[in-house]
Amino acid sequence: MTASVVIYRGADEALSLHGVAAKKGRQPKFEDLNLIKKPVFITDDHQILFIGSEDEDWSSVLKNKEAHQVTLSGGLLLPGFVEAHTHLVHGGDRKDEFEMRIAGKSYEEIAQAGGGIASTLKKTREATQSELLESSQKSLDFFKSQGVVCCEVKSGYGLNLEDEIKILKVIERLEGTHCVSTFLGLHSLPSEFTTFDEYTNFVCTEVLPKVQAETLCRRADIFVDRGYFELAHLKQLSNTIKKMGWDLTLHGDQLSAQGASLWGAQNGAKSVDHAVHLSDEELKKIAKSEAVIMALPGADFYLDLAYPRVRELIDHGGKVALATDFNPGSSPTQNIDFIGLLARLKMKMSLAEVLAAYTYNAASALGLENKYGSLEVGKSANAIHFEAGLTDLFYDGSQKKLQHLGELK
Ligand SMILES: [Zn+2]
Repeated sequence: MTASVVIYRGADEALSLHGVAAKKGRQPKFEDLNLIKKPVFITDDHQILFIGSEDEDWSSVLKNKEAHQVTLSGGLLLPGFVEAHTHLVHGGDRKDEFEMRIAGKSYEEIAQAGGGIASTLKKTREATQSELLESSQKSLDFFKSQGVVCCEVKSGYGLNLEDEIKILKVIERLEGTHCVSTFLGLHSLPSEFTTFDEYTNFVCTEVLPKVQAETLCRRADIFVDRGYFELAHLKQLSNTIKKMGWDLTLHGDQLSAQGASLWGAQNGAKSVDHAVHLSDEELKKIAKSEAVIMALPGADFYLDLAYPRVRELIDHGGKVALATDFNPGSSPTQNIDFIGLLARLKMKMSLAEVLAAYTYNAASALGLENKYGSLEVGKSANAIHFEAGLTDLFYDGSQKKLQHLGELK
């Protein structure tokens, strides 16, 4: 069977972001977005065959191929968004805790009162696989409706072998958008264990080999912070997964300085997430590293905490990505436009930086920058078509009218 080729014409503008990709996401400027007037976008079932303007000769792309044309009415073409940090699979919600937060209780005080991760843990353990799948699929569909073509999803509300595997199996069954699953068994200390050392040993020796055997996942995450896991546990996890050929990512230095982000950046972590409490020296070293710095301003906003020093990280050459951190406690929003708005207002990111952060750099954090993040020949056949113009994005937090082009249409 021959692949079906589609020619999309009629949009006013496209942004290919190939300049962002050429710079590997460092210090993206407006010109790196590569604005194309009157774009032509051609795909087959799997990959992009052409992206350029009407003035270019694209007829050779169609040689010996049957193609059909889709006419778009104006608007803007962009690479699909990559949402690279979510806790999408969880039981219940934590709306009741929001009132406690408003009354002045801290994240840690709520956790000590039986709320926080422990409360979601209980509801997630009680839920069946199909109940979790139903609610998670709805959340994933909502991301897709905002232009997401690839979504990272973490486990981490099971914290025992059976329930962690249950969550990973839910992620495997999600449909409609490419999902990348991340094992976050080291999210918190479950009540069955008394020390973080003991639980980390259990996860590294009992849980991870079984997850590996079931090929459910190939990346791992850990929450390193005050009252949670320590640098030593991060090192132990890193050693364990290195032998399995997995990627490392981490939640670090969100509530307090632990040195986790720098250690991760210097030891092959694909991304260091949160990275709020950094010394000047750490900030410069992380910016120069290959790790993507995942800013999660939704969590900083909801917890009313400091935002990461993204302006300085970018100015020192850091690769910065953005994500919602969607979870029922510290960042219940799934609104990507709002996250970009926060990034612009609170972290002084330019629109070009926000776009790069939600496309190429987010794809890099997942090791998928050769597939997603820019409109370039050979990359995955995905794009989004907005009715709105560029300056309407990441401005008012509203959901924009859009359609998926290519694979996910
Ligand atoms: Zn998170």
